[in-house]
Order: sequence, then C-alpha cells, then structure tokens
Amino acid sequence: MPAIAYQYPDEVRAIREGLDRFLKTEVIARHERHAALLDNERNLFTDDGRYHPDALALISEVRIAAARAGYYTMCVPADLGGQGLGNVAWFGAWERIFHTCADHYWLGHYVLSHWAFGPSAVLRQLTPQARETLLPGMMSGHESMCFGMSEPGAGSDAMMMKTRAVPDGDGWRLSGSKIWTTNSPYADYCIVFAITDPERAAQRRGGISAFLVPTRSPGFVVERVIRMWGSVGGNEAELRFDNVRVEPHQLVGRLNEGFSIAMIGVNLGRLYNSARSVGTGRWAIEKALEYSKIREAFGGPIAEYQGVTFPLAESAMQIHAAHLMCLNAAQLLDSGLPARKEVSMMKAFATQAGALALDRAIQVHGAIGMTNELGLTEAYKSLRKVNIADGSNEILRRTIAKEMLSGDIDL
Ligand SMILES: Cc1cc2nc3c(=O)[nH]c(=O)nc-3n(C[C@H](O)[C@H](O)[C@H](O)COP(=O)(O)OP(=O)(O)OC[C@H]3O[C@@H](n4cnc5c(N)ncnc54)[C@H](O)[C@@H]3O)c2cc1C
Repeated sequence: MPAIAYQYPDEVRAIREGLDRFLKTEVIARHERHAALLDNERNLFTDDGRYHPDALALISEVRIAAARAGYYTMCVPADLGGQGLGNVAWFGAWERIFHTCADHYWLGHYVLSHWAFGPSAVLRQLTPQARETLLPGMMSGHESMCFGMSEPGAGSDAMMMKTRAVPDGDGWRLSGSKIWTTNSPYADYCIVFAITDPERAAQRRGGISAFLVPTRSPGFVVERVIRMWGSVGGNEAELRFDNVRVEPHQLVGRLNEGFSIAMIGVNLGRLYNSARSVGTGRWAIEKALEYSKIREAFGGPIAEYQGVTFPLAESAMQIHAAHLMCLNAAQLLDSGLPARKEVSMMKAFATQAGALALDRAIQVHGAIGMTNELGLTEAYKSLRKVNIADGSNEILRRTIAKEMLSGDIDL
C-alpha cells in the first residue's frame, strides 16, 4: 500500500523505474564483479589516501554509462544541454538510488551529476568559450569537477573566505586555500570562489566571484587527501592556490556576484542530502525489520520485543515525515519559490532522521551491525557527515528562525 498520497508525474515514475534497471546492470553488477577492490579499503585506496586508479576507472565508467543513458545530466539545465528536469525529479531519482544502493553499492552515487563533482545549474552562467571548451568533457562523464568554497578559516560563515583573485592583465591570479573539497583529488576542474573586491566582501555586499579553474593549472596544488571516520583514504582534500592564472573565459557569472552561484550549489546539496537520508533511512529500516524476524533470542524472534521494534517505529515516523517534507520543498522550488524555510527544515530534519534510523538499525543487528559486511556503519557515517555538510543543523535552524522572525510563519 502506498504511504505517500502524492503521485510522481509519469515522466519521473519512468525515470525511477529505468534507474532500477540501470542500477542493477551498471552499478550492482560492477560492485559484484569488483568486490575485492571496492569492498576492501586496503585495495580501494593508495598510500596517499587517493582512490586506486582501478576504482577511479570504475567511477568513470559509471558516469559515462549514466551520461549515455540520460541520467547523468538530469540536474543540468536544458540550455546547457542537460535534461533540465526539476527538483521533484531529482529528489525522486536520488531517493531511489539511495534506497537501492545506500553506501554499499556506492558507485551508484555517481549516476546523477551534481554540484560537488559534475555539471549542474551551478554552471548556468558559463562564458560561451567555457561552454565550448570545458563543458563537453564533463557532460559526457569523462571529466569531473569539484566545488571549492569552504576554507580552513571559513566554514558556516563562508563570507570569511580569504582566497583572493587579483587582476592580472585581462584575467586574474588566484591565491589562497580551500578545504573539505569533495572529489578534488580526482577532478579536472574546480569552481573556486574568491574575493575580487575586498571592500565589498568586508561589508558582506558581494565582492566574491566564481571561476572554473582546470586543476592541472600551474600553482593548483592538492595538499593532502583528508581521511575521515577512521578511513584510510577519502574523497575530500585540502587545496592550495599559488598564484594560479585564471583566464577571462573562466569567470562564471558576473564579477563580484559569485556568492549567489555558490548558493545554487548549496541548495542542490540540501535536496541531495535530504534524498540521501530518506532513501538510506528506508533501506536501513527494511534491513532491520528483515533481521528482527529471523534473529532469535529468549525463545523467539527479536521482532516480538517492543524494545526492538518501537525504535524502528519511531524512525518510520521520522523518515515518513522527512519524505513528505522533501516532496513538499521540491514542489515549492519547482514552482519558482525560494522556499528558504522549507528547504532548511527539510535538510535539518531529514539528515537527523536518517542518521538516527541508521543508528537504530545498527542496534537491532547487534554485533553484526558493526561489521563492514552489511554496509550499515558506512551508511551511518555518511548520514552523520551530512548533518554538517551543506549547512549544519544549527545553521539551518538559524535560517528557519530568521525567516520566521522576518514574517514567514506559515507552517
Ligand atoms: C563530508 C563533507 C563534504 C564537504 N564537501 C565540501 C565541498 O565539496 N566543498 C566545500 O566548499 N565545502 C565542503 N564541506 C564543508 C562544509 O560545507 C562545512 O563543513 C560546513 O559549512 C561547516 O563548516 P565547518 O565545518 O567549518 O564548521 P564551523 O563553521 O566551524 O562550525 C562549527 C560548529 O559551530 C556551529 N555554528 C557555527 N555558527 C553558528 C551559529 N551562528 N549558531 C549556532 N551554531 C553555529 C556549527 O553548526 C558547527 O556545529 C564538506 C563537509 C563535509 C563534512
């Protein structure tokens, strides 16, 4: 019986069904063929913390297959050559991917390009030359990018950034650093946010510009891969820019108005991470229910004990509420509304609900829930991390309160 009264439009339903087939043949089958590489961090990462070249080749194969099948560029505006679909479609696709793959079949995370590693609405204002030269490789999935906003001294308050782009002939020279930049050890391009008008930036009235910079540019340095949660490698890195030359065609959008471009990425991230939380949360609850029916203790299956099932019922309520909040926020965004309050409520609620569902699913599994075999701990770590990325729970509450105090009290 369907739990959600809202019906996806036919087009989105077809995408979700198509994704089921795609994930089976292009993602799950690949994981099964390459389990020794993909399931064991000793093989997956090299000594410097980067993905092994064989793993990078598999990621690239999935991106390219997804581009050929039409999924990869779903979040890319039609005027850039993408599918130009909306937030409901993106949510529906991401939710299905995470419900099916969670973090175990993690190649599935590369099926839809998004702001942190590929083309998206963030690139809408590329110059004609950049569209012609930099975009095609990314649209086909052969090349990838990363999103460089956070800095060692500028996280939640991104306006505190110090990276500067100073005029140099017809272009600029870039100096500074970025941190936590997802996919940056492997990316071909980085969209870098830098101060171009220090006075305006100090007054918090613009002064930040966006540049799409090739990572092979002289002076563009990947300082180190950052290891998180006990992992031996990772996807995030710290970057340094030593006087990197930026050409005029690499400016994205208007000079000094790059912050609004960053916000496009951050908002897409909020929808993505909410969909990830709902999909993965559902996967975890289903796994825990299944296990509770077969695991026996004290003369019967543990599903007979309310101490086991009530926490799952709690999470079911929360994930269901998060699911509805996501569909609602996506519809508001698709109708052209900023939905600042609703997007913040959605992301704060969904990511907390998701992490808690994973924690409870681990508990229901007992010791086996802690092993690397079920994928529960990997999924928990991912959802715990997204309680910080793209607006921490506190920053989102700050936005909700701010919106309400300025009069938006429709709940
Ligand atoms: C897995 C992962 C991937 C990421 N990928 C990227 C990426 O690709 N590109 C990129 O640019 N960045 C990326 N980030 C960085 C991310 O955007 C920042 O971590 C986030 O903005 C928070 O900044 P911070 O970590 O410096 O925390 P801080 O800003 O230092 O905050 C520390 C704590 O203080 C709280 N806090 C701060 N201000 C307030 C306030 N006013 N009221 C109440 N509490 C407050 C925060 O909520 C947090 O709990 C990533 C982060 C993670 C975890």
